[in-house]
Amino acid sequence: MTTTELRPICIAGNWRLGGGVQYDTCYPATGEVVATLNAASVGDVEEAIQGAHKAYLESGWAQRKPHERAAVLYRIAQLIRERSEELAQLQRRDNGKPINETRALVASAAGTFQFFASACETLEETITPPRGDYMTMSIYEAMGVVAAITPWNSPIASEAQKIAPALAGGNAVVVKPAEITPLMGLELARICDEAGLPKGNISVLPGKGSVIGDAITRHPLIRRVSFTGGTSVGRHIAQIAAEKLMSVSLELGGKSPTVVLEDADLDHAVAGVMYGIFSSSGESCIAGSRLFVARSIYKEFMDRLVKGAQSLRVGDPSDTATQMGPLISQSHRASVEHYVKIGLDEGGQLRAGGSRPKGTLYDKGSFYLPTIIEGLKNSDTICQEEIFGPVLVAMPFDGMDDLIAQANDSVYALAAGIWTRDYKKAWHLARALKAGNVWINTYKQFSISTPFGGWRDSGLGREKGRLGILQYMEQKAVYWGMNEKPLPWAN
Ligand code: NAD
Repeated sequence: MTTTELRPICIAGNWRLGGGVQYDTCYPATGEVVATLNAASVGDVEEAIQGAHKAYLESGWAQRKPHERAAVLYRIAQLIRERSEELAQLQRRDNGKPINETRALVASAAGTFQFFASACETLEETITPPRGDYMTMSIYEAMGVVAAITPWNSPIASEAQKIAPALAGGNAVVVKPAEITPLMGLELARICDEAGLPKGNISVLPGKGSVIGDAITRHPLIRRVSFTGGTSVGRHIAQIAAEKLMSVSLELGGKSPTVVLEDADLDHAVAGVMYGIFSSSGESCIAGSRLFVARSIYKEFMDRLVKGAQSLRVGDPSDTATQMGPLISQSHRASVEHYVKIGLDEGGQLRAGGSRPKGTLYDKGSFYLPTIIEGLKNSDTICQEEIFGPVLVAMPFDGMDDLIAQANDSVYALAAGIWTRDYKKAWHLARALKAGNVWINTYKQFSISTPFGGWRDSGLGREKGRLGILQYMEQKAVYWGMNEKPLPWAN
């Protein structure tokens, strides 16, 4: 391997090889090497953050008028759209998601930049009612240097969701993508350069979370960390943030309940439950991994669901007919298999999947079949711990009180799904379920205009929404004296 084949990383606008160890990223469907690069080093972190701070102070980005910053963000959206197929193919190879899904992720990333461009140029500051001889204003300013730390499951979308509002708010941003999926973050930085973002306002530093992510989080010049990932890492980041008194947002894990009432439209519910757990191979924070079905329809519903799961098309992510690709890695598949074993050891019965698919297509990739287990209690291990794979646990329920108690019995509270034709029950349940996001007669639909986030161990803070830009801005009160005479105290 010569150095010309190594991918450079972006350190405060300088594209060069990282100072850390060399490693390969692999296509999860075949194990082929996709890219070879050097991870960032701790020295690169220092250089990137110092460069970002300099850019914040001197590049003029924070001082540009909102519509001028918006123009750059609109251009980023346009460039993503112009390169959409190339980016979707790269995202597919980066983490093995089916091409239909990566095309949607790329489109959503472009939409995110467009949305925050609009939020930026339409953000209003406030003149508040005066309570003295002064005018009072509440205005917003950039924080300085902020960090975005992201997981491997939907890189381009989760990175866009952080980079766009951070830049819209006038900040310089340091991105730490997951070590195994660094490519979309690097491409976004290239696009930011091409769109005219002043140099130094974006860095992308691949590498180990415990080294590079930790060094970024602890750095005194980092004023905010926007983190998406697992709950234990999120808790660790929150502890550092508490020490630094730093703003933090945490989008963490989930163990989301989906409930099917006896009056549900079963065609819609079967399709929605399958999509909720098995799309993205279940590697989704909002995967509907606990299913509660009214006992009166349990048997019929499960028979249909099992049939549906067994006919899902698992295979080559480049094929537009594929519904489920591989898991991210062999080691993650081993973890999923371990959880399935625990579920069966605790008395669960397998209704679908529970093994790797057979055939030469699957030999080298980390594939796993859509899996349904029943016969467990909500208190059992695989109903309480996040598996982050295509494993659904199904349970019957008796009555609304029983349902609500079980559904809410989780440390997580990220999402919930409700399938019913009864609008009153739907509303009652939507209010009663503890979750940051509730879907009624649909699931896993997203809109950049609607704030997203979790309760309890699923996180802190919100992303998206028109006011999502304010998460990356400091609020400042200005009192502007209008007195004709000196303040009375001085007399
Ligand atoms: P992870 O927590 O292991 O890693 C996430 C990111 O944090 C990576 O970039 C990693 O390198 C970095 N990191 C790890 N240790 C760190 C440390 N000590 N300091 C700073 N950064 C560190 O998560 P993962 O395995 O990449 O992703 C899966 C998890 O992400 C699941 O729990 C899933 O539910 C969660 N997730 C949540 C959402 C959401 O919006 N709520 C979305 C996607 C994924």
